Amino acid sequence: MDKNNVMANDETVAARIRGMMKESGAHLEGHFKLTSGLHSGNYIQCALMLRYPEFAAYAGEKLAERLAPAKPEIILSPALGGLIIGHEVARALGVPFIFCERQDGIMKLRRFPHPGNLRFALIEDVITTGKSSRETAQILVEGGADWVASASIIDRRSENTMDEWDLISLWKLSFPLYEEDSCPLCKEGLPLVKPGSRKD
Ligand SMILES: [Zn+2]
Repeated sequence: MDKNNVMANDETVAARIRGMMKESGAHLEGHFKLTSGLHSGNYIQCALMLRYPEFAAYAGEKLAERLAPAKPEIILSPALGGLIIGHEVARALGVPFIFCERQDGIMKLRRFPHPGNLRFALIEDVITTGKSSRETAQILVEGGADWVASASIIDRRSENTMDEWDLISLWKLSFPLYEEDSCPLCKEGLPLVKPGSRKD
């Protein structure tokens, strides 16, 4: 495909993902406090979309297509958010899937042997700051594995953060984020909701 076709295809995929989020009720509108502490009028709860296996499979296949050139030999995700999509990506690529989980606040590879010096890709549902993604990937890197790619269904990184980090995503969110002091939704007096906080 030439560059224009690739871009048109990316837009088609993003439109499908947006449609699936709406249809599954995963795209919530209101007044939300995100895990970063910032406020927003939009919140995406990916689990609501991923509960439909055909939607999860679609997202997994599209991420796998984009990851394939990096030739990952194993997929790694952090629990819980990355479990379903990581598994779908691994299935589409025909490679194993493993996950890390928090134990006493520390990310650990509890249930699996370290895969050694394999090439691995890190998969998440949503990436906001990338902090827990890095923490997760570091566990395999420290044992000699090669971190070749990262991907998430949604890229929610704010502008100018982690520009150096090459992240594959299906939908780059551009909803405005507000500091509490200058949040127009707070000024309107809309009740603030704190959805699914990342304490796990
Ligand atoms: Zn607010």
